[in-house]
Amino acid sequence: RDFFLGKRYESTATESNASSSPSAEKFEYQAEVSRLMDLIVNSLYSNKEVFLRELISNASDALDKLRFLSVTEPELMKDAVDFDIRILADKDNGIITITDTGIGMTKQELVDCLGTIAQSGTAKFLKAVKDNKGAGGDNNLIGQFGVGFYSAFLVADRVVVSTKSPKSDKQYVWEGEVNASSYTISEETDPEKLIPRGTRLTLHLKRDDKGFAHPERIEKLVKNYSQFVSFPIYTWKEKG
Ligand code: ADP
Ligand code: MG
Repeated sequence: RDFFLGKRYESTATESNASSSPSAEKFEYQAEVSRLMDLIVNSLYSNKEVFLRELISNASDALDKLRFLSVTEPELMKDAVDFDIRILADKDNGIITITDTGIGMTKQELVDCLGTIAQSGTAKFLKAVKDNKGAGGDNNLIGQFGVGFYSAFLVADRVVVSTKSPKSDKQYVWEGEVNASSYTISEETDPEKLIPRGTRLTLHLKRDDKGFAHPERIEKLVKNYSQFVSFPIYTWKEKG
């Protein structure tokens, strides 16, 4: 695959809403990503709940990828953890956490996958938006194409992705905010947040969308949208 690489900045740790980690590196999104996020955030798209389907499908893809690659690279499975997806709904704080034990991402993969648009689905979406100005609007298109990872910003104003690839010794944290032109990557330093393998997404929900952080609502969405996922999906009310 061909990737555009996000431009790298020197960290300016004094910035007001900088990441919690002082050693965070700042990266600028590829222009297409900024456009896409703009579209997502400023559209009046009402079917926001598709975010969960998109994120569960990424978790499921990551588990599939690990299973597939481990056939030829069995060392990828050295951390003996079950293949599953866990969703924690913290309604008191308006936070949803989605954890998978899939392939995870290295630091470079974080830049390649969550800072650029390299895959065809989203590129097609952007082209359709361009070709379709005024005809039905962007709202239909979001539903039609699905906008992948960035759909998290339909409901969240801050997204934290903590991820551990079996190909890397380190766990990395990607942190992005809605309406921002850059994101940060730092090393996971909190021992309580270390995972053996895979990816944990933390969605800090927008004020008006905190209602999604109810276990009953999550369970319903999982039933509606993700019934054909071939890995167990657990929903938790409290940290488990
Ligand atoms: P798509 O799933 O169509 O490739 P997305 O925007 O949903 O597009 O995701 C972009 C990329 O980010 C994925 O292709 C994958 O490489 C990476 N990614 C997203 N979520 C995860 C995850 N939970 N685990 C590992 N990689 C992920
Ligand atoms: Mg996806």
